[in-house]
Amino acid sequence: MSEIRLGSIEAGGTKFVLAVTDGDYNVLLRKRVPTTTPEDTLAAAIEFFMAHPVAALGIGSFGPIDIMPDSPTYGHILKTPKQGWADTDVLDPLRAALDIPIAFTTDVNASAYGEYKFGAGRGVNSLVYFTIGTGIGGGAIQNGQFIGGVAHSEMGHAPVIAHPDDDFAGLCPFHGNRCFEGMAAGPTIEARTGIPGEKLDRSNPVFDYISYYAAQMAYSAYVNLAPARIVFGGSVLSDAELPKIRKYFAQLNNGYVQHPALDELIVRSQVPDNGSATVGDAALAQNLLA
Ligand code: ZN
Repeated sequence: MSEIRLGSIEAGGTKFVLAVTDGDYNVLLRKRVPTTTPEDTLAAAIEFFMAHPVAALGIGSFGPIDIMPDSPTYGHILKTPKQGWADTDVLDPLRAALDIPIAFTTDVNASAYGEYKFGAGRGVNSLVYFTIGTGIGGGAIQNGQFIGGVAHSEMGHAPVIAHPDDDFAGLCPFHGNRCFEGMAAGPTIEARTGIPGEKLDRSNPVFDYISYYAAQMAYSAYVNLAPARIVFGGSVLSDAELPKIRKYFAQLNNGYVQHPALDELIVRSQVPDNGSATVGDAALAQNLLA
C-alpha cells in the first residue's frame, strides 16, 4: 500500500501546488509553480509528474469549473475573470500526457474532502466546509459524496443580512452587501478599515461582523442539511472568532432546532499546514484505484 504514489494539484489563481504523497497520505514532495498561461502552467505540472510518477492524481481547481463527468466541458475552467484561463481544458492535457486516473473537483471540495477524511470530519458521516480567504467557498459532503447535482456549490454567494452596525457596501459585483463573500472575505477587511486583516487587532468590530456572517452561513447550512460538522478554514478567521460564531448561531436559532453541542458542531479546520487540499486530492485519487 504505502509504496503507491498519489498526486495532487492545487490549481490556484496565483500558483499551482504540485505534490506527491505515499499511500498513507504523507507528503513526499511539494513544488509551487506560478500560474502564468495555461500552456506553460500545465506543461510545468506535466513535467513534474513525468519526473515523479504517480498511480492516480487529484486536481482541486479554482473556478468556476465543470465537475460533471457527463458534460462535454468536464474538466474545463469556465468563465473565470482570470486572464487567459476562461474555457481552459485542464483535464485533457494531463490525461493525455500522464495516462492515469484523474479526479477533478474544486479547490474547496478538495479541502472539504481532506477535512472529512483526515481532519475535523473524522468519525462523522457529514460535513459542510467553508473557507474564508481572498474569496469564500463552501462544499458539503454526505457519506463520502459531494452534494450537488448539476454543478459545484457556490456557497460564498449565498445571501446574508448585513449586521446592523456594518454599513459596508460589499465587494461582490453581483450581490453588493447581500452575500457572504462580498461582506466577509479577506479583502473586505482592508476595504473597510484601510488595514490588511493580518495586521488588524482581533478586537476590531470588523471581526465581529465577519463572525456574524459566518454564523448566518453556518445556520443556513445546519437548517438546510443538518450536517454533523460545520468547519471553517482559510486565513481570515482565528480561534478568537469561534465563540462569536457559536453565539450568533444560537441567537439565530432562538431555541428552535435541536443541534449537537456548538463546540462540536462548529469547528475550525484541523489538517495542519493548510494541507487539507493536498491530502483531499490524494484521497480522491486513491478512490479511483479502489
Ligand atoms: Zn456575491
